[in-house]
Amino acid sequence: MQEQKTFRCKDLGLACEFEEKAENEKELMKRVEGHVQTAHQMNPEHPETQEKIRKAMK
Ligand SMILES: [Zn+2]
Repeated sequence: MQEQKTFRCKDLGLACEFEEKAENEKELMKRVEGHVQTAHQMNPEHPETQEKIRKAMK
């Protein structure tokens, strides 16, 4: 059984090929935060941003 989570920037409507996988939501969030901050100038500490990312995870 795997609980692996996947995130794609495309699911946020971004024209970006970034895709990341991790063992769980918490770990994935950590990895995605760095990307959205540097690549998309989003503030990963903003609750709305975190919520958007979480909803886009599959
Ligand atoms: Zn991206």
